[in-house]
Amino acid sequence: MKAFRAQTRPASGGAPPSACGRRAVSRVGRGPAAARASSAAQGSPLPASAPSAPLATSDLPPLASTSAPPADGITLFYRTDWGGGRVHGSLAGGAWQDYAFHKVASAPGKWLRAKIPAAAGAGGGNGASASAAAAAAAAAAAPPLLEFVVTNGKGDWDKPTTGGNYEVAAPGIYALRGGALAPVEGTPVCLVSDLDGTMVGDDASSAAFKVWWEDVGVVRGGLLVYNTGRSLESFKQLLAEKGHCLSRPDVLISAVGTKIYNYVGSGRWREDEGWLARLTEGWDLTAVREAAYAALAEVGRDSMHFRPPEEQNDHKVTCGVQVEALPRVLEVLQTRLAAAEVDANIITSGTGDWRFLDLVPKGAGKLQALDYVRQTHGFPLSATVACGDSGNDILMLSGPNLALVVGNAQPDLVKWLEQRRDDAGPLPGKARLLRASAHEARGILEGLAYWGLA
Ligand SMILES: [Mg+2]
Repeated sequence: MKAFRAQTRPASGGAPPSACGRRAVSRVGRGPAAARASSAAQGSPLPASAPSAPLATSDLPPLASTSAPPADGITLFYRTDWGGGRVHGSLAGGAWQDYAFHKVASAPGKWLRAKIPAAAGAGGGNGASASAAAAAAAAAAAPPLLEFVVTNGKGDWDKPTTGGNYEVAAPGIYALRGGALAPVEGTPVCLVSDLDGTMVGDDASSAAFKVWWEDVGVVRGGLLVYNTGRSLESFKQLLAEKGHCLSRPDVLISAVGTKIYNYVGSGRWREDEGWLARLTEGWDLTAVREAAYAALAEVGRDSMHFRPPEEQNDHKVTCGVQVEALPRVLEVLQTRLAAAEVDANIITSGTGDWRFLDLVPKGAGKLQALDYVRQTHGFPLSATVACGDSGNDILMLSGPNLALVVGNAQPDLVKWLEQRRDDAGPLPGKARLLRASAHEARGILEGLAYWGLA
């Protein structure tokens, strides 16, 4: 069975492919000040079983379990600059035990997170349901669902300064910061943003988003995803340069949606195996390359070339094609791929005399990768926001999820936006596709506020 889908992915500018899609990024200033240290109440009375061995919380929990709100458990975020630690607690009056803290990928050095399975029959609400009335009723009837203290495992303990231990009455998400424990309310957001010109470009805007993400987005159980034309190495360089103002994402989608990397801690990224397995279906790299060579032989080297090796991978063949030769190239590719029975997605993009031509597996692409990440982490369309600034973001802005065009969008994307009919969105009474007034990352915050997600 053969299947082809020709798509258009306009990119900024009219430059030849060798100059497309890359932007220099300057180094500017410092970002927001580091979070203040947690309140560690040393020497407070502790349960007899309190452990004292140092802990190193270097590993992140499996990503698929980090984002969704707990169905019947407790997720505890702890604001601290401790490198690691644990919750020491008692569930419903039971034996005291330890629950590991994990670092939060997109808020390093700011939050630790523990997931604690609540006792059976303790209720099924979330943070929003942990009202004062419910908490009072539960406290009057039985021991608290969870009584706890926290420690860094190096002799520092955090307990309420008023005495006793911290108490949680109902399942849900809670945040403990500066000695204050409170349920977390608000919708967890899966935010999928382009980098250059959207999340990156103005350091003050990037920093404003980072502050919101670390104060609000993270503790709701949000997931931060960058969907970029940059390679992993190029992204790492950007993050090293801009780490003071740029949030580190939980997930990186790159190479026209053929690569998904999950952050696994200690500066390491791991390619998503589930996505990789999907890309192998119906894909034959050798046959695709041969089809591209056949097209090149047909139109000649003055009209088509293979892009540099760093733009190729096992699931992507990328060429530059002169616009006049494009129809003939597509014709040859489709004929050859059909003969080889290869399911490929042919994506053309760019403006001007030369276009990018990406040959990727049928299931690959920026929007497909976005949707895979969204579903893997259990986010609804109404809480998934794609953000971009140029024509090469059109595909990921065209899905059923919420989508935002920043105020500084390039002319090709603005033109597409103006010609597009507003389609029904997943949030009643709200546009699915929004153009913000604010530029770059501040535009993202504007959109989140519009959708009631800020
Ligand atoms: Mg961009």
